[in-house]
Amino acid sequence: MAYYSFDRERILVTGGAGFLGSHLCERLLQRGNNVICLDNFFTGQKRNIFHLMDNRNFEVIRHDLVNPIFVEVDQIYNLACPASPIHYQYNPVKTTKTSVMGAINMLGLAKRVKAKILQASTSEIYGDPTVHPQRENYWGNVNTIGLRACYDEGKRCAETLFFDYYRQNGVNIRVVRIFNTYGPRMHPNDGRVISNFIMQALKDEPITIFGDGTQTRSFCYVDDMVEGMIRMMDGPDDFVGPVNLGNPAEYGILTLAKEIKRLIGSHSPIDFLPAPEDDPKRRRPDITLARKKLHWEPRVSLEDGLKNTIDYFRGLLAER
Ligand code: NAD
Ligand code: UDP
Repeated sequence: MAYYSFDRERILVTGGAGFLGSHLCERLLQRGNNVICLDNFFTGQKRNIFHLMDNRNFEVIRHDLVNPIFVEVDQIYNLACPASPIHYQYNPVKTTKTSVMGAINMLGLAKRVKAKILQASTSEIYGDPTVHPQRENYWGNVNTIGLRACYDEGKRCAETLFFDYYRQNGVNIRVVRIFNTYGPRMHPNDGRVISNFIMQALKDEPITIFGDGTQTRSFCYVDDMVEGMIRMMDGPDDFVGPVNLGNPAEYGILTLAKEIKRLIGSHSPIDFLPAPEDDPKRRRPDITLARKKLHWEPRVSLEDGLKNTIDYFRGLLAER
């Protein structure tokens, strides 16, 4: 049994009950850190962290990040923000507030307690990119008044705040730009493509393709992503980012649907529905910088990652 120790590094994970956050909390506990998970449970779920609750080095705080909070910590991973289009468009004003006020509150805390702080930024800051693949020096192509802007512009402003606190106040920052990530503990109804397709295929229901399915994404398995985030946080102070983290293998959405059907042995038909507004047409990270500076690259193939994720969703359906 692990015992509480004041010598251990104490780490705050905002959004720690979400998909990515729960995996991050788990990894940090495994390596012996004290972890404080902060979440308002908007899209996060208690079941994601239930298995961590009897660990003495784990604490949970129910808190909304738009309000300030004071906790003594050494590191902050700032992940709190709904991430799927359905969730972040549900209350767009709140989404922007979470990104912007959340960043201000966490940067203020980091400044006060002298904590190192990592921002979970996103490939969405590149918008519908006109440059392919996307490198960190590309400034992006975002519609400021579109339906995705609450998320994209909120995350862009958060990056600005991180770099201004870094230059103005000497806060020790890290910024990672996360590309589409998937794996167990994704919310089954969050509307993201992998969770949707797997749930539909498992139930032999129609697989919903938005548009003609030629749009592309690059999918990174959650374990690889968590490894990249931790390497960035623990890396040298003279490399603050932004750095792309994602899997450079690029797939068309129709190809993904067929692959998921094949792995499940599903009889689902494929339905083509209208494309959502401002849906990016192509997305693939250039991870040269991550390879060079963090010696990081994804290791899990799409097939292996999908199999694990399918097993997870199968388990959820069996419980129901
Ligand atoms: P998620 O929705 O599963 O997790 C987000 C967590 O933040 C949830 O637990 C939610 O309850 C919490 N949260 C939301 N608003 C909050 C608030 N105001 N106060 C406190 N907690 C709040 O999503 P995820 O996929 O785990 O994403 C985590 C982070 O990674 C997000 O910041 C997201 O923008 C970023 N990201 C994820 C992906 C991806 O593909 N999963 C890609 C790019 C960026
Ligand atoms: N998509 C789809 N069917 C679905 C869900 C998503 O065709 O049921 C498409 C969506 O239009 C987009 C891609 O899959 O082109 C990835 O969507 P997701 O919401 O997972 O992530 P994001 O658009 O934020 O990258």
